[in-house]
Amino acid sequence: MFDKVLIANRGEIAVRVIRTCRELGIATVAVYSELDRDALHVRLADEAYALGGQTAAESYLNTPAILEAIQKSGADAVHPGYGFFSENADFARAVAGAGATFIGPPPDAIEVMGDKISSRLAAEKAGVAGVPGRSEPLEDPAEVIAFGEEHGWPVAIKAAFGGGGRGMKVVASAAEAAEAMDSAQREATAYFGRPEVYPEKYLSWPRHIEMQVFADRHGNALWIGERDCSYQRRHQKLIEESPAADFPDEIRRAMGEASVAICRACDYEGAGTVEFLYEEGRFYFLEMNTRLQVEHPVTELVTGLDLVALQLRVAAGEPIGLTQEEVVARRNGHAIECRLNAEDPAGGRFLPSPGRISLFRPPDGFGTRTDAGYESGDTVSQFYDNLVAKVIVWGEDRETARRRMLRALAETVVDGVATTIPAHKAILAHDDFVAAAHSTRWVEERLDLSGVSAPASSAGRPPDGEPRVLREVDAEVDGRRYRVKLWVPDLGEQPAASAGNGTRAPARPKRSASGPLAAGDGTVTVPMQGTIVKVMVAQGDLVEAGQTICVLEAMKMENPINADRAGRVAELRVKPGDALGAGDVVAVLE
Ligand code: ADP
Repeated sequence: MFDKVLIANRGEIAVRVIRTCRELGIATVAVYSELDRDALHVRLADEAYALGGQTAAESYLNTPAILEAIQKSGADAVHPGYGFFSENADFARAVAGAGATFIGPPPDAIEVMGDKISSRLAAEKAGVAGVPGRSEPLEDPAEVIAFGEEHGWPVAIKAAFGGGGRGMKVVASAAEAAEAMDSAQREATAYFGRPEVYPEKYLSWPRHIEMQVFADRHGNALWIGERDCSYQRRHQKLIEESPAADFPDEIRRAMGEASVAICRACDYEGAGTVEFLYEEGRFYFLEMNTRLQVEHPVTELVTGLDLVALQLRVAAGEPIGLTQEEVVARRNGHAIECRLNAEDPAGGRFLPSPGRISLFRPPDGFGTRTDAGYESGDTVSQFYDNLVAKVIVWGEDRETARRRMLRALAETVVDGVATTIPAHKAILAHDDFVAAAHSTRWVEERLDLSGVSAPASSAGRPPDGEPRVLREVDAEVDGRRYRVKLWVPDLGEQPAASAGNGTRAPARPKRSASGPLAAGDGTVTVPMQGTIVKVMVAQGDLVEAGQTICVLEAMKMENPINADRAGRVAELRVKPGDALGAGDVVAVLE
C-alpha cells in the first residue's frame, strides 16, 4: 500500500479522499491555488503545497507545479479526484514519469474512452450498442438531414470531446441542421479545443442510468451497481439514487455484464462508470467515465464498500478481493444523493451564486451523510465548480430514503449563498418522484420552480437569531499566546452576489428576496465576474424589460444578462471576449 498520497484536486472530493487515506494510515498531501490557501481540503491534509494562480488553468491544471509538489512531498501516489486532470492520459503518464502511481486506469484506457466517438466504437466492439448514431465526425449539414430522415427527429449533435453536459445541440428539423451544426462546432472548439461533432438520435423521454464498475490487473472485472441520475438541469445531474426505481433485475444484470464487457475490451483497471440512456426497457451506451464519479456515495451506502479504499488497493496492485455474487449480495436498501450547488434555482434558472458561506450547518442523524468541501466562513469562488456539499441518505427502501432526505434538507442551513436545496425539496416532494415517472427532461419540462425563492435558507439560526461567522484571533492568556476561534455576529460586510436578472447586484436584502425586482434605472451590469461570450443587441436597438442583452460565462455556465427595464440601447459597452468584474456596466438604456 502507499505511504503518501497527493490529491490533485480541491473541494469535497479532495476531502473525501483524505478521509479514507487517514483511515488506512496513509499520509495525505494537498495542493492549492492562491484562493484555496485556507480551504477545507488544505486544513485537513497532513501537508500542503501551493500551486500558485487563481484559475483552474493556473493552478489545478498546472502540470509542472503539481509534479514539483509530488517531488517535494515524496508522495508515492496521486489521486486525481474528478474533473481537472482525472481523465487526462498525458497527466497520468507525467505522474508515472515522476515515479508516482496514478490512481486510475492505464493511460491507454483513458484515451480510448476519452472521446465519445472512440468510446462508442470500443463499446460496439464489446457488443454493446450506443444510442442510434454515427461513429464518425460530421462533415456536412446534409449528413445531419440524412440522419434525421433515417432515424427521425430530433437529432442530437454532440461534441466528440465534450463533457460536463456541454457541447450538445438538439436539432428539431432539417431546417435547423446547418445552423445547429455550425454552432455545435463553434462551441466544441471554444470549450474543448476540438471541432469534431457527430449525430445521435435524441431520445425523447430517457432515464440516465449508469453502472459502477471495478477492475484489477489480476483479471477481475465486476459491476458494483447502478445509479439513476435522471434529475438534471442543463444536462447536469442534481439528484442521484441507487437502485434505480422500477428497474428489473434482469436488466440490471444485463447492464452490469455489458459494462464489464466494455472494461475487458479496453483493459480497464480501477474504478469506472459506464453511462447509459434507458428508454422503454432498452439501454444504450452513452460514454464511460474513467474516474470516480461525484455520485459514488450512493453506491457506497447501498453496498457498504468504500470505493476510494478499493481504488487505492487496486492501484497498489492488490486484487479486488470480492466476487460478483458477493457484490450482488451486499446490495441493501436505497440511497439518494442531493448535490448542494451554489446556484439560485428560482424560476428554474439555476444561476451561479458564488460568495462567502456565512453559516453552514450540515444535517445529521440516522442514515445521513454529508460530503462537504466547505465549512462556515469559507468562500465559493467563481473560478471553480460550485458544488458546496453532497447530502446522501440511506433508507431500507426508496420511500424511507425519500422522507429521510426531505428531513435532512429541512435541517440543512447554508447562509450567504443561494443553493439548490429549494429545488431538491420541490423534486423530492413531487408525486412524479414518488411514482418514478421521471426522465432526464423532467426537471426542465415538468417541474414548476416559479414559486421557489432564491435566498439561502435561514432556518435554525443560532439562539440569538443572528447569523454568526467564524473568526480566528490571537489572544494572550497569562502571557501565553493562543490562536482562538470566535463566533461573532455576521455584520453582512460581504454582499452575496445575487445572480439576479442582470440588473445591478442589489444590496442583499436582509432575509427574503422573493418577488419581482422593480424596474431598474437602465444601467445594466453583470452580477459576477466572467467573460462575455455573446452580445444579443446592437446600439440603438429597442429592448423590452427582461430581454437578453448579452451572455456572460461565469462558473462554467452561461448566464443571460437581461435589460432591467424597457428602452433604447444608448450605450453598448461590451463585445464577445471581454472579461468583466462584478458590477461592470454592459449597457445603458434610455
Ligand atoms: P457529457 O459528457 O457532457 O456529460 P453525455 O453524453 O454524458 O454528455 O450526456 C449528458 C446528458 O445529456 C445525458 O444524461 C442526457 O440527459 C443528455 N443526452 C445525451 N445524449 C442524449 C441523447 N442522444 N438523447 C437524449 N438525451 C441525451
